[in-house]
Amino acid sequence: MGNNKDLQERKVKVIARGQGNAYPIYVKEAKNAELWDVEGNRFIDFGTGIAVCNTGHSHPKIIEAVKSQVEKFSHTCVMVNPYEVAVELAEKLTKIAPGESDKKAIFVTTGAEAVENCVKIARAHTKRRGVIAFNGGFHGRTNLTMGLTGKIAPYKHEFGPFPGEIYHLPYPTSINGTTVQDSLKALKNLFKVDILPTDTAAIIVEPIQGEGGFYQTPKELLQELRAICDEHGICLILDEIQTGFARTGKMFNTEYSGIEPDLMTMAKGIAGGYPIAAVVGKSEIMDSPIPGGLGGTYGGSPVACAAALAVLEIIEEEDLINRSNQIGEIFNTRLNELKAKYPALISDVRNQGAMIALELMKDGNPEDANAELTKAITAKAAEYGLILLACGFNSNVIRFLPALTISDDIANEGLDKFTELFESL
Ligand code: PLP
Repeated sequence: MGNNKDLQERKVKVIARGQGNAYPIYVKEAKNAELWDVEGNRFIDFGTGIAVCNTGHSHPKIIEAVKSQVEKFSHTCVMVNPYEVAVELAEKLTKIAPGESDKKAIFVTTGAEAVENCVKIARAHTKRRGVIAFNGGFHGRTNLTMGLTGKIAPYKHEFGPFPGEIYHLPYPTSINGTTVQDSLKALKNLFKVDILPTDTAAIIVEPIQGEGGFYQTPKELLQELRAICDEHGICLILDEIQTGFARTGKMFNTEYSGIEPDLMTMAKGIAGGYPIAAVVGKSEIMDSPIPGGLGGTYGGSPVACAAALAVLEIIEEEDLINRSNQIGEIFNTRLNELKAKYPALISDVRNQGAMIALELMKDGNPEDANAELTKAITAKAAEYGLILLACGFNSNVIRFLPALTISDDIANEGLDKFTELFESL
């Protein structure tokens, strides 16, 4: 096994830079909230592989479920010879998804595919084409999902043209001066100028913008969107890819708003690292596309379904919904202490459960995004034994996505390291 430097040299020769890596840290082993690299260095993982390992790395229950499934069979394709684990997972997901309507699910492999399939289903159901998304939103790296994504670099840069009939609305955040009323006014205007509501198949929104900077979509906006969609027969799609599976102190973030989406996406935390994603939605909408129109060769892999069923059990048995809120409080308290010490640099600390953000500014001006400091922090994090990720429309947000199984001690140790790192810059 090579060292980090050798491996990075080999990597850049054979893996294109478009699939760049945040850290030249090559993992040898990862357990719960910690990982070790090939040189034996230990890191506290505040990134969880971008909000995927909510149940921690290598949870024994997931290992057992995967082993047991692999010993039986690994693949037959759910569209050829289906199997019980897929049915059981669909039964569970349709039960825990927000809202009271009868629901159905489909399985795909990635988050972007789940979003694409939501749009396909909404278009087949409404026989309309238009889709409305939000500035700053992120929905994936396929052509359609790039089109829906509301930020150019790096996701869309030089990759167009994107599919037509996609429109973006201003998104209200704590710092961009946009209000819920501004977003709604823009929607009204869009319906007058660009696309009729009767030509609109779907509105898609993240309940918390993930890549966009961990901004909570105001409850009033979600409720208004629900009402507008109901009025015009438009499908409301909630993209819960980053926010799902106890990450935000509820099973799904949408629960905070009390609305029921027509369709929702699930991925990332669903299976603790095994590639599976799902669309769950109202049965009459989900059944609109004709047989064979949805899915993919690997969608609903039995191994990933088994892992997902284990994740759901772990969330329940280890009370991870409550734990997510406790972790959020630990981070919020500690990061607010740092904010009190550095009022000219930290413009905001916000969290919903264990989806936690620290926003950085220059010279006490919240409108002056400090992307340089954010970059300096993530660049130096590994030296301090931390894996940390940045996000944000203006690249000035440090995001903390710890495993929901992290202990108080490791969380605090990681926060000590973060404080040391912050104060070193
Ligand atoms: N939608 C949201 C809200 C996301 O956060 C992501 C990934 O970060 C995606 C879609 C795309 O998911 P994937 O990378 O699995 O295609």
